[in-house]
Amino acid sequence: MQSTKFNPWEMALEQLDSVARKMKLNPNVHAILRHPKKSLIVSIPVRMDNGSVRVFTGYRVQHNISRGPGKGGIRYHPDVTLDGVKAMAMWMTWKCAIVNIPFGGAKGGIVCKPEEMSSDELERLTRRYTSEIILMIGPERDIPAPDVNTNQQIMAWIMDTYSIDKGYSVPGVVTGKPLSIGGSLGRNEATARGCVYTLMSAVKYLGLDLHRQRVVVQGYGNVGWNSAKLLFEQGCKIIGVSDVEGGIYNSDGLDPYKVYEHSRKTGSVVNYKEAENLTNQELLTLNCDILMPAAIETQITKSNARRIKAKVLLEAANGPTTPEADKILEDKGIFVIPDILANAGGVTVSYFEWVQGMQAYFWSEREINLKLRDIMQKAFDNVYRLSRKKKVTMRTAAYILAVSRVADAHLTRGLYP
Ligand code: NAD
Repeated sequence: MQSTKFNPWEMALEQLDSVARKMKLNPNVHAILRHPKKSLIVSIPVRMDNGSVRVFTGYRVQHNISRGPGKGGIRYHPDVTLDGVKAMAMWMTWKCAIVNIPFGGAKGGIVCKPEEMSSDELERLTRRYTSEIILMIGPERDIPAPDVNTNQQIMAWIMDTYSIDKGYSVPGVVTGKPLSIGGSLGRNEATARGCVYTLMSAVKYLGLDLHRQRVVVQGYGNVGWNSAKLLFEQGCKIIGVSDVEGGIYNSDGLDPYKVYEHSRKTGSVVNYKEAENLTNQELLTLNCDILMPAAIETQITKSNARRIKAKVLLEAANGPTTPEADKILEDKGIFVIPDILANAGGVTVSYFEWVQGMQAYFWSEREINLKLRDIMQKAFDNVYRLSRKKKVTMRTAAYILAVSRVADAHLTRGLYP
């Protein structure tokens, strides 16, 4: 899953090792946490529309299930690697622990170019992948969800394939499903909404006024676009956004709804008429107050971190900042809301969806958003207070909180046999 020379798994291990030293983590628990519990590599033969058969590679990794079933999205992308999936599974373990929901960490992915595949091919790919990993997943084992390039429809195919295998409907096997088959209200916007709740808490502590903040968002998919929209509604000025094709900038502010329409029509945000085009690298170093990477990992590196001008880095994407860059941001005094805290709103509403599905009792969107706000604000407060108390960065505090909760579960359960 790496787009550059960085290996996300090495980065995830470095983050864990560093926090383990700081918190004097029990070395036996540390050793366990350095390894994913289970990693599965599958070959997925798929009949293509032209009659030929192509074999894709897929992965499902459970990093840790000591606090509950594995939870984590499935990514369809040409850069998916086992190490990338392992890293994201580990980050999911920490994320679920930070918001204190009873899940462990898992992740999956298929090496493919979904934009070059027909809907029928994607359906056959998804169903065969589901059948290859079926022994690993289930409402009490491991619950996939959407990630980059996967969506509600793909979750519906996974749920249907799993249910056919069992002989009855099992809505709890995936989250991020369409409403018609047990999805949750509010899930689509949940990650973005969670990011916004953490930012609201951050600006309160930093003494800033959210209304006046100039925001730059990298990535205009589910998380990026919904965040731009919600922040615009909060009175922020969205001055730059981007997608894989490039970025756009207007110092007077962009209307995210119009940009979204333009992107839907043309396939990209670039060439939007009320803005100038720029590269993703230029976008990241724009003069702004809030920088929100919401695309892929390892975007902020030691080669661009010194040029980041934002006051707050709101990490919507998973692993957008390398450890070397992190140190530079710390030295520059940039307030980082780390990924495992900032983007935990998605898995939190996934948890709500799972609970609703298991109980076959569904809540209103208002109830969901209020519960989400409570959880995100509490998680932010816990991390912020810990960072002040221990005089460490928000990322280190988030890791200390998460790792200590997971370690506690391990030590309480004991080691079998
Ligand atoms: P998405 O597929 O809906 O959107 C991804 C966006 O990033 C697209 O606009 C794409 O063009 C852009 N992009 C891809 N590669 C890029 C590159 N090299 N440079 C610049 N832009 C690029 O995905 P999403 O669901 O919005 O996820 C975005 C990030 O948020 C990922 O890191 C994902 O793991 C993380 N995340 C998502 C959720 C969720 O609920 N969807 C939850 C937690 C974390």
